[in-house]
Amino acid sequence: MSVKPGVVSGEDYKTLLKACKEGKYALPAVNVVGTNTVNAVLEAAAKNKADVIVQVSNGGAEFYAGKGFPDSFQAKVLGAVAMAKHVHLLAEHYGVCVVLHTDHANKKLIPWVDALLDHGEAHHKETGKPLYSTHMLDLSEEELDDNINECARVLKRMVPLDMSLEIELGVTGGEEDGVGSDHVDNDKLYTQPADVLKAHDTLSPIGHYSLAASFGNVHGVYKPGNVQLRPEILKNSQSLVQERYQTGENPLDLVFHGGSGSEKAKIDEALQYGVFKMNIDTDTQFAQAEAVGKYVDEHPRAFKYQIDPDDDTPYKKQYDPRKWLRAAEEHMVTRLDEAFADLKATGKTIAGA
Ligand SMILES: [Zn+2]
Repeated sequence: MSVKPGVVSGEDYKTLLKACKEGKYALPAVNVVGTNTVNAVLEAAAKNKADVIVQVSNGGAEFYAGKGFPDSFQAKVLGAVAMAKHVHLLAEHYGVCVVLHTDHANKKLIPWVDALLDHGEAHHKETGKPLYSTHMLDLSEEELDDNINECARVLKRMVPLDMSLEIELGVTGGEEDGVGSDHVDNDKLYTQPADVLKAHDTLSPIGHYSLAASFGNVHGVYKPGNVQLRPEILKNSQSLVQERYQTGENPLDLVFHGGSGSEKAKIDEALQYGVFKMNIDTDTQFAQAEAVGKYVDEHPRAFKYQIDPDDDTPYKKQYDPRKWLRAAEEHMVTRLDEAFADLKATGKTIAGA
């Protein structure tokens, strides 16, 4: 199994998922907010000879376009377009496969996804490829039928573009970029196999989808003990679909949200049950902050003076943003080394000549 390096979609994307699931490894899906974070992800993937998922939330996309951008909705759309074009241009040169994805879109963000599909259709007309490999629609807070029906509508738009849809059943705890769940019932925090079967019945005849299933996972990092991960929940959904459709093992392509801070043994177990993607955001955010904090501590006067008032030392070489932003990038790469290793993805790129 080998595909061309660069952004993958359609059949190449399915080939990549198959490699992950058969090899019992997963790809980190790393949230980005600008070129620094994108480039750090590409650098980490190349360094680890691993394929990777670059994803942006609506807030990340808005930041990518610029916080001073006059219109917030347009910034979310154009920022996501700019990020995708940046990756399309550069990814193949890093020699690995890259999946481009947008993160949580709840009901009020459906217009964001539709606007991105407008851009995706234009990009497809021009290049024969979709702008994004996948989008996520997170309607897990809606009634099940509403969730599934809207996912079906969006998936129908995506199929001609060779795209795939990530859906969510059950609710990920915590909050990601304003899409949150502090007030939901406890049983909603665990995906119900019957719901999964219903979604599969509707969506699988239309096109390819992946499923963010809830098994006690929570966005963000919490004190140990506050999160009870139960990966065996994933197995129940896999078994039901496998039995009903007479498929091989792990027919569902599962996504693990809220991966930051998770116990390594539970990650390991989730890989056995068909998880091919684990989201990581909080841990890479902290890695960047930690590195910049350390840099400032080591060069305190360079952040106060251009030239030292006591001894005329020029500090240009220390306050140059390429120094402290690079420190953030380097530490993000180091944190991603760990993520690739945790997910058993190191050295597994399927990118070939
Ligand atoms: Zn999430």
